[in-house]
Amino acid sequence: MEIITAVKGFKDILPEETGKWQYVEEQARKIFTAFGCREIRVPILEKTDLFARGIGEATDIVEKEMYTFRDRGDDLITLRPEATASVIRSYLEHHLYAADPVAKLYTIGPMFRRERPQKGRYRQFHQLDVEILGYEDARIDAELILMLIHFLKSVGLKSPQLEVNSLGCPSCRPSFRESILKFLQGKENDLCDDCRRRISTNPLRVFDCKLEGCKHIIAQGPVIQDFLCGGCRDHFAAVLASLAIFGIDYAINPRMVRGLDYYARTTFEVTTDFLCAQNAIVGGGRYDGLIRDLGGPDIPGIGFAVGLERLLAMMPADQSENFIESPSLFIAALGTEAQKFAYQLCNRFRRQGIQTEMDYTAKGLKSQMKRADRLKCRKVLIIGDREIESRQADLRDMQTGEQVKVTLDNPEEWKDRI
Ligand code: AMP
Repeated sequence: MEIITAVKGFKDILPEETGKWQYVEEQARKIFTAFGCREIRVPILEKTDLFARGIGEATDIVEKEMYTFRDRGDDLITLRPEATASVIRSYLEHHLYAADPVAKLYTIGPMFRRERPQKGRYRQFHQLDVEILGYEDARIDAELILMLIHFLKSVGLKSPQLEVNSLGCPSCRPSFRESILKFLQGKENDLCDDCRRRISTNPLRVFDCKLEGCKHIIAQGPVIQDFLCGGCRDHFAAVLASLAIFGIDYAINPRMVRGLDYYARTTFEVTTDFLCAQNAIVGGGRYDGLIRDLGGPDIPGIGFAVGLERLLAMMPADQSENFIESPSLFIAALGTEAQKFAYQLCNRFRRQGIQTEMDYTAKGLKSQMKRADRLKCRKVLIIGDREIESRQADLRDMQTGEQVKVTLDNPEEWKDRI
């Protein structure tokens, strides 16, 4: 009978990889906490309306990529394609803003988008998501970016390249939109089908098109920087000045619009030399009108999402072994009495936090030693009938081959040498 395989675009994270995942997640928790963020855990299923309203109807995600279905109660629900909308829903639903509008939140978990699977692109992928709500101050934008870069470097990312832009606000963006529309007039037939449609739904999204033909056209088009109002210009300048305080290198990319509708003012992406530009590792930005659009008070916000699959792919492969905790001790036990003794000792050490392994298949010494080797155990304790009788056994260091005699009656005496 054939085995059942995973759904296309959905990937297992196997035991040899999870050490790396845990390491990255632990670093994130440590660093985000130091910057005052607290974890929030939100469901992976939400009402479809939340994303339609939060992300924007005329975005690729909402138009083509969401896993949306009716459940058995006929409710229209969606597997979350991103976390920001859910975090804000929770912030509003639980009135977190009532006690203090400022909330620094992070969440880690799977997201779902029905995109064409390819290298670095999955249908279930994981994001590490940070949202800072309640501050409009440009210093927060730079501080958030500082935290992000610090985190990326702390997990070994060699050369994170930061690109920033400002998308303006509802008072200056309309004139930019008009100017794009005017620019695209007469060029409709040279654009792809999607971009032709975007002209009437969301012309800024033409900047996001990955096709060379459209990219070439829009490269000649107007840039938002020329349309920013005084407030947005000052805000952007203040973000850049704060980045300079921390010595963070950046490039201004005036054509970066980002794929979600809710961004306003600061937007940013992080890429590395490793991947091509369309494969950013991190995307983020300010979304000052989103909380209001989702039915809440007029509270500003800014956040980012790190794509964990892509980040992990950037980390050197040969390091992955370092993330696997090998057992400290293997007890090679030969004979019924020795096995009985080993069984108790093994589980005694485990309860003391010492990772200990033994073999239950009654194999000979050679094959038990092989298993200890495969598990990369640092020390091996060898016990047979003779050791049980003399109450003494050899503790062998697997790297140096050095052996010391230890007493079986008092493991506490030598457990520190494991
Ligand atoms: P976004 O939420 O679209 O701004 O994406 C933020 C980050 O999530 C990207 O920079 C990627 O690293 C990651 N990401 C987005 N979509 C996918 C996907 N389909 N597969 C893997 N990673 C993804």
